[in-house]
Amino acid sequence: MKRDNPDAETLVCPSCGSTEIAYERDAVLRADAVAIRDGALILAGPSVPQPLDDARLACSACGTELEGIEWDAERPLHVPEGRSPLDDAKALDALAEKLNEPGCWNGGDVCELAADLLRCTGRHIEDEPYPEDHPS
Ligand SMILES: [Zn+2]
Repeated sequence: MKRDNPDAETLVCPSCGSTEIAYERDAVLRADAVAIRDGALILAGPSVPQPLDDARLACSACGTELEGIEWDAERPLHVPEGRSPLDDAKALDALAEKLNEPGCWNGGDVCELAADLLRCTGRHIEDEPYPEDHPS
């Protein structure tokens, strides 16, 4: 594998060797992915590095999906300061525990907890919730 930048892993199709790799996310965003650096995708053209969650990478030439792009190892690096990293199973257990507490649960509380737990697994959360006094 060719490496121009020691910090970036150049994306190459394992099937045909093409470096034209497409990046898709929830069928909304589509762009050419050229490299991975510091746990973020580098896209061709004007773009900002994209967090890797839910990314699908496929060869533009032959359609082979690139698998084994490991960012689980990256996740602990993105845990909020002062918090302990959680693995996925522990985060789900904590969420289940909250929902199974006696009495009804509040959707807002559950969402806040879910966002907090996701951050502790190192996942990127793009947006903040609406402020309490938001008109909508
Ligand atoms: Zn290919």
